[in-house]
Amino acid sequence: MNGDVKFGILAIQGDYEAHAKMLDRLGVKWTYVRRPEDIDGITGIILPGGESTTHIKVMREEGVWDALEKFAAQGGAFFGTCAGAILLAREVHNPPQESLGLLDISILRNGYGRQLASDVHEGKTTISEQPIEMIFIRAPIIQKVGHGVEVLARDAAHPVLVQQGRILAATFHPELTTDPTVHRHFVDTIGQRREGAAAESHSHRAASPAR
Ligand code: GLN
Repeated sequence: MNGDVKFGILAIQGDYEAHAKMLDRLGVKWTYVRRPEDIDGITGIILPGGESTTHIKVMREEGVWDALEKFAAQGGAFFGTCAGAILLAREVHNPPQESLGLLDISILRNGYGRQLASDVHEGKTTISEQPIEMIFIRAPIIQKVGHGVEVLARDAAHPVLVQQGRILAATFHPELTTDPTVHRHFVDTIGQRREGAAAESHSHRAASPAR
């Protein structure tokens, strides 16, 4: 991997420290993002799990929301886990809430209901031979994906790991395991796709409404 690449981890609330540990494990440089200026010099950002409503509120107050929209327009890469996936989705339900809209999916917050609030499964992905551990915590359900969205893993009938160009999202928490497969995929994807990625992803979005 390119030694100049540095990643940001949104560090407002939720399990951002677990993402930092995972990037350390991969030997990747990172910085916490709490203010707009923290985005300077990063190539990709991780949006952790937590409460998406709290993330939105604080990001708005700190000016980070606008800075992230600009970062996306400039070809920055994003990896959202759970609440982070909700922030990236084009459409959010239960209840509807604003989002960055960078990923052409429709997502249902707390989709498994109260009794299935947390669950651990083993699941296959298209990014490694070995199944990976998938920890779901008050997880959302991806209800629809647009044509430009690749489904990298499903659990039961639902997509749980999806990618559209430079945008990656998991409804589970790979950062809470010791398996770096998904983070390594994100880091490698960024290394290969940073340049010109914005144009590619935007054309997908325009051409393919969520189905
Ligand atoms: N239920 C949370 C939300 O809707 C997400 C849960 C999580 O990130 N583990 O924002």
